[in-house]
Amino acid sequence: MTHTPEYPRILTPPPGPKAKAIVDRDRAWTSPSYIKVSPLAIAGGQGAMVEDVDGNRYIDFMAGIAVSATGYNHPKVVQAIQEQAGKFLHVCGTDFYFEGFAQLAERLARSLPGPNKKRVFLTNSGTEAVDGAIKLARNHTRRASLIAFHGSFHGRSYGGMSLTSSKTKQRRHFGPFVPEVFHIPFANPYRDGGDQAAMASSLHALQELFDHQVSPDEVAGIFLEPIQGEGGYVIPPVGFLKALREICDRHGIMLVADEVQCGVGRTGKMWASEWDGVEPDILCTAKGLGSGMPVGAIIAKESVMSWEAGSHGSTFGGNPVCIAAALATLDIVQDAMPHVRAMGERMLTTLKDMQARHPLIGDVRGRGLMIGVELVKDRATREPYPELIDRMTDRAFRKGLLLLGCGKSTFRLAPPLILNEYDVDTGLAIFDECLKEEERG
Ligand code: PLP
Repeated sequence: MTHTPEYPRILTPPPGPKAKAIVDRDRAWTSPSYIKVSPLAIAGGQGAMVEDVDGNRYIDFMAGIAVSATGYNHPKVVQAIQEQAGKFLHVCGTDFYFEGFAQLAERLARSLPGPNKKRVFLTNSGTEAVDGAIKLARNHTRRASLIAFHGSFHGRSYGGMSLTSSKTKQRRHFGPFVPEVFHIPFANPYRDGGDQAAMASSLHALQELFDHQVSPDEVAGIFLEPIQGEGGYVIPPVGFLKALREICDRHGIMLVADEVQCGVGRTGKMWASEWDGVEPDILCTAKGLGSGMPVGAIIAKESVMSWEAGSHGSTFGGNPVCIAAALATLDIVQDAMPHVRAMGERMLTTLKDMQARHPLIGDVRGRGLMIGVELVKDRATREPYPELIDRMTDRAFRKGLLLLGCGKSTFRLAPPLILNEYDVDTGLAIFDECLKEEERG
């Protein structure tokens, strides 16, 4: 593969013959539950460019669902992985020691906002971090009830799925769920008519829940994504997390920030909770942490991580090779924070300009490189337009831009954090062109 910015480039309309063969084989043998948004069969990548098996090249605005934080093969990450793989592949951090395990735990613990010392439990995935956080919140508080928000996504295992309230099909025919989970509306400024109204209605619903269904002294944790991901890249008003923090403090409830999608620098700060100056009791991370290697973590206040030895563990959680990738990723991401904010601003400015020209764009919102573009049939009614998301995803793919939808009718722009100005401008020009084609009909 060359190192020139010869992308995007479509040599053969995708899926080309090689991609089609892989797609056909995959479709014959894999679980039908996989979504498969585009017939992309990846052969390699560099930075924010992805090359498919037929030599087509794409600008990547989705990073494998907000995972490939440092791109597809960052040399420092690859080197760290190779060096560690040459030493040892496994030892089980639940029972034995190695330096990387302690190092990553210390690094993550120190990275969280707030004055309290933290401790860390390492996992293989986001949903495991969430399930572990449920166990920790219950174990620490000796309470059973859990509160989460409509539109939230917390994973596919039983704990994460029970907290999830994003799309019905993610829960349909899978019940019964973990008991004692309650859902209330999330503060969604676009839907609710502004910041104040959004915050008031969500907090009112929480009070109603306390008044009518569950006493706050029975609640172990309130779980929220500081920015909702899969549910539509919804950014609650500044102050929402703080208000929840106060309510949690008042009632001894754990505030659990699920930063699986919005953490590790994606919003231009290491943790999205920092935008509100809030110290969660427990924070879950995964996705971008290992640049694509499976590693996640539960990070909790030392006073909260009070479970006894043997009460929770994992065979693979904190795998040495994944840890090497995570340590290298954290180095790169930490240095990239100003870049993430600058690229995010660049994207937002262009998108707001597009919004003024394209009535199909109802809302543009974002922090850092976590940007939602909500498409609507009609700006006045804000009626969602899910078919347009599907059509635009396909259109963009054929022009060499990788997009991914979320929520009912929103594009989630979550590119690798290291994308450059060329990637931003070229990708958005394709996005603009796709909208123009849609408008021309
Ligand atoms: N929590 C959030 C906020 C997520 O976005 C996701 C995945 O999309 C998860 C949890 C589950 O993570 P995983 O797919 O690694 O289990």
